[in-house]
Amino acid sequence: MVLKAKRIVAAVIALTFAICLLCSCKSTENSLPSAIYAGNKLYYTFSKDDFSESTKQLDEKVIVKDNWFADSLLSSLSEGLAKAKNLSEEEALKEIFNGGYKIYATVNPNIQNAAEKVFADSATFEQREGYPYAQSAAVIMDYSGRVLAVTGGGDGDRTLNRATRITRQPGSAIKPLTVYSRAVMDNSINYSSLIFNKPLIIQSLNGATPWPKYDDTVGAEVTTVQALARSVNTCAVQVAQNYTAEDTVEFLQNDLGFSTIVTNQSENDLSLSATALGYLTKGAYLYELCAAYQMFGNGGKYFEPIFYTKIEDRNGNVIINKTQKENIVLDSQTATIMNRLLKEVIESDEGTGKPAELKGIEAFGKTGTTTDKHFVGGTPEYLGAVYTGYDDGTDVSVGYTKSPTLIWKKIFEELELTKTTFELDNSVITKKFCSASGGLATNKCTKTEIGYYKTTALPTICALHK
Ligand SMILES: [Zn+2]
Repeated sequence: MVLKAKRIVAAVIALTFAICLLCSCKSTENSLPSAIYAGNKLYYTFSKDDFSESTKQLDEKVIVKDNWFADSLLSSLSEGLAKAKNLSEEEALKEIFNGGYKIYATVNPNIQNAAEKVFADSATFEQREGYPYAQSAAVIMDYSGRVLAVTGGGDGDRTLNRATRITRQPGSAIKPLTVYSRAVMDNSINYSSLIFNKPLIIQSLNGATPWPKYDDTVGAEVTTVQALARSVNTCAVQVAQNYTAEDTVEFLQNDLGFSTIVTNQSENDLSLSATALGYLTKGAYLYELCAAYQMFGNGGKYFEPIFYTKIEDRNGNVIINKTQKENIVLDSQTATIMNRLLKEVIESDEGTGKPAELKGIEAFGKTGTTTDKHFVGGTPEYLGAVYTGYDDGTDVSVGYTKSPTLIWKKIFEELELTKTTFELDNSVITKKFCSASGGLATNKCTKTEIGYYKTTALPTICALHK
């Protein structure tokens, strides 16, 4: 039903826009197209009648109907203007087309164009034999919540913006948010703690059932870094039990800005399946999922994602000066340790994010697989979230092994990336740990790795190789 309602909203906006293009936006004394600025450049206008004329002065020629960012922006603008001027969203939308506003958008035209170029290339997408291309969407933002690009594609109807209008199951992409970051923050685990790889026993009418599915190839105990790299469900569930579902969903809603969390109906998100494994009752918006990952690249902060910073009327009066919700979610040591843990998802040989690895640029990320596939990852400058899936719920996880990670990589390879390393909290110390015990390595340990620790939460010396 939610999906259907979203489709209708999308269709209404598309229709209103189409009608507007056909008849109601002729430039008269009172009607003036709004101008969208990206940085100091005029990016585009929302009105077709004036578009032909104004393209002369456009620095970037973009056809509005084919631009996904414009769709997300319109939706955000009509909501903001409706509130600011006490209008219905439909009236606000008309105002935006005819009102002569000057809108300062967060879009980065270079990044938008790069993302669209990747999505326009059918070689970007894997295709399973006998199935149509899956739908896909991507959001790119910076570490202060400014959405820089939105795109989508596959075999989709382009009026349906899957990045900002459709919710999807984030799956394991939720684990770093709800489980691991909180456990590192309160020192219940560290970079190399051993976590039990065993299912819970769920009692039901059918008897005792082990849950979630147990992967016995991994070992009975798994280090934190390995549990994340391999995305071991049983480990996430073991750690998630430290927190009540009520606390976890409050964290998702209040600290990380997820707007679709359900707590007040019989089917809700107050379960380990939702909080540890990301099977949310209503799913999550891709741009909200992306925004939640900011904290792993900016020292622990959350900024509400935005599509514009300011709206001025035709006389230059400021109508909306956008203020963002801003939270300090993690202490900076925890943010650094999480950044290093999630870097291994991409860099370690067993990491599920390995296909996203960029040459010479550090990156962190996490995959999520349900009937949809997600990848959220960041470089020192930008953060991106990509999803692939079918609108009708057909399982995309079989046969589409790498899609979101590869799409993410293709987009990031198109960007001008100048920073190669993250700024880390230098009070976090590095120590060699024993891969078998997770303890600080002795000279008798046979296999060791480098771990990242708070000085106040170091592991004990390896007990296996004293
Ligand atoms: Zn050892």
